[in-house]
Amino acid sequence: MSAAKPIYDPARSEPERQAEWAERDAFATPAPAAGQAATYIKPSSPFTSGNLHMGHVRDYSIGDAYARFRRARGDAVLFGFGFDAFGLPAEMAAIERGARPADWVERCGERMLGQMKRLGFSFDYERAFYSSDESQYRWSQWLFLTLYEAGMVYRDDATVDWCDTCQTTLAALQVEDGRCWRCHNKVRLIRRPTWFLRLSPHLEENDRNLAALEQGGKWDELSLKTQRYILGRSDGVELELSAADGERLVVFTPHGDAAGEARFVLLSPRHPAVERWAGDAAVAAQLDELRSGGWERSARDAAAVPVIDTGGSIELAGGGSLPVFVSPIVDARYGPTAALGIPAADEADEAIAARMPRAAAEPFGGGSPAGLEHREASRYRAYDFSISRQRYWGTPIPVLHCEQCGVVPAAIEDLPVVLPRDVEPSGEGNPLAERPDFLAASCPRCDGPARRETDTLDCHFDALWLWVPAAVPPADRDERMFTHPDLQRWLPAERLVAGNDSGGFVFDQRVVTKALREIGPFAFLADGEPFAGCLFHEMVIADGRKMSKHLGNVVDPDELVAEHGADTVRLAVLYAAGPAKALNWTDGALRFAARFLRGLWDYTHSRIAAEPADDTEAAADTAFIRERLGKWCDSGLERITADLEQLQMHKAVRNVTRLLERIKDYEKRVIDRRGRLSREDHEALLEALVLLARALSPFAPHIAEELLIALDRDPSVGFPVHDQASAQEAS
Ligand SMILES: [Zn+2]
Ligand SMILES: [Zn+2]
Repeated sequence: MSAAKPIYDPARSEPERQAEWAERDAFATPAPAAGQAATYIKPSSPFTSGNLHMGHVRDYSIGDAYARFRRARGDAVLFGFGFDAFGLPAEMAAIERGARPADWVERCGERMLGQMKRLGFSFDYERAFYSSDESQYRWSQWLFLTLYEAGMVYRDDATVDWCDTCQTTLAALQVEDGRCWRCHNKVRLIRRPTWFLRLSPHLEENDRNLAALEQGGKWDELSLKTQRYILGRSDGVELELSAADGERLVVFTPHGDAAGEARFVLLSPRHPAVERWAGDAAVAAQLDELRSGGWERSARDAAAVPVIDTGGSIELAGGGSLPVFVSPIVDARYGPTAALGIPAADEADEAIAARMPRAAAEPFGGGSPAGLEHREASRYRAYDFSISRQRYWGTPIPVLHCEQCGVVPAAIEDLPVVLPRDVEPSGEGNPLAERPDFLAASCPRCDGPARRETDTLDCHFDALWLWVPAAVPPADRDERMFTHPDLQRWLPAERLVAGNDSGGFVFDQRVVTKALREIGPFAFLADGEPFAGCLFHEMVIADGRKMSKHLGNVVDPDELVAEHGADTVRLAVLYAAGPAKALNWTDGALRFAARFLRGLWDYTHSRIAAEPADDTEAAADTAFIRERLGKWCDSGLERITADLEQLQMHKAVRNVTRLLERIKDYEKRVIDRRGRLSREDHEALLEALVLLARALSPFAPHIAEELLIALDRDPSVGFPVHDQASAQEAS
């Protein structure tokens, strides 16, 4: 054995590998060759917070391992992302620091890109973008106008929190115990015009498609579960009832068998017929109060939720009648519909009946559903959501307010409506309303004077299409963002890897894809699905609790990388837990990963330095052990490959570590039998170590390449293909 055994020093070797990757442009998105699979792996789009946290490290370590694996298997891989750079957290952080959000976001993004590179993530960095770039948000505006034209975006009143002192609306995260985050005065609820995204036309298809996505085998259980939860489907029956004046009302209940036991009808405040039932002035006043009361907050508690008695009743042809009440509990359970109240079958209905004196004493169907004409039906809880905010740091909404014409959409050729970047918001008022240069415009319809909309789009709207730009070469994005031919190559994305809190984003992205399919640009996506596969992972916690500055349990990835190296951190994060489990961060996983990598490094280098003797007789005697090693390598590789294909990286890493144990076991058996390794035994050992380094390369790419170089192999040849031939070769 040589005395000058190289020392494992990731602080030196990892930046060297990274420089080498950059030099040969190793992760540039290739143009797929004929017959080559095109695989778009979509990581989550980070907020420009300024720091990667351990959740990001988890997310990107999983996605990166998969991307490296697929590249090594011969696929053309697109692994790219953009920053979710607009929005309230960035604006609040900038206010805190007295900075312009535009500058703050850029500094944050630069820093995060540096962290990603130091962790060795193989993104196509040339394709990275910021949703706050003018070249990006002009397409958010295009999408807004396109959806508006298609009736998918509309304007309506909504209840919002308002601070009288700061003269601004507040988002939920700016209200603490009913007080403003900035001035600590009490907030109140007001009604104001707000823009909404319409989901209802695509809920059924989003639901229907889940079966096919599940069958495709690339959507994990967690991600499917979130989609079902957001849909909130209830199955039951619907009945058509008629009022005394002949007005008909379709009512739903999930308790079909007990329909005849109904004692009242509950209408959603959003039901299209609610105004008709609230015709009485006193009832209309109550309804107004209910709508401005922020009822969403208590809508799920039947004992506390507001319920209005309309005074009206609905008759049944066969006799009997049911009083009609209005309550937002309907929305929280079944969406904006009408529902039967059946105390005998439903606890919430029982609680409401107890509160409402007019709830019928007698069941209207005489207790039996037999005489009632009903049909099977479903309802979805998912409903349209507001997409506008009274905020500076967001995509300007491309509409104008004209004295003559009212609300007028901007002309597409006038895009982008540019957001002034030289603004330092204070959190008070609306900075855009104080910028005459932004406000002044002329009406595209009548050419008269008009004022620009000063609300901006919530960053949730930007996120609706944040998975698209990476698939378009940066130079072509200005002209052909939604029409570039490459989109047909990369979409749907083969896999989305994201945190478990991304379900809402994914759901809405699935809705918008369907809208764009119908409108035209995404007509090539027949099922309207943006992601063929989806892997959700749980968050990273510490001491059983969410990491937070407040608790003082935040783990800083930079410190870990500085101390242990990127490979150790990545391997530890992957090894510590399967994606469906919260990763409770402890030093244990880190110590395990460090020990394994250092051990592998030392073992490989010492075996490379060993000098075996020629011994034909010994070689013949140990042939069966070499053969066994070949089989172990083959089955180990088969398992690791299967784990990687399912993105079960914790299992794959475990199987990599087992493979090293097998190799050591092989060596021990040979020595037990012959006292030493023959040249043939030694060559088989090195060959197995080559295979091991390649199998390790998706997870710990830097050390894997260093080992391959030491073993005199081409480090850019990646993951080994599992088949019998390679097993024979190794034995
Ligand atoms: Zn305030
Ligand atoms: Zn006009």
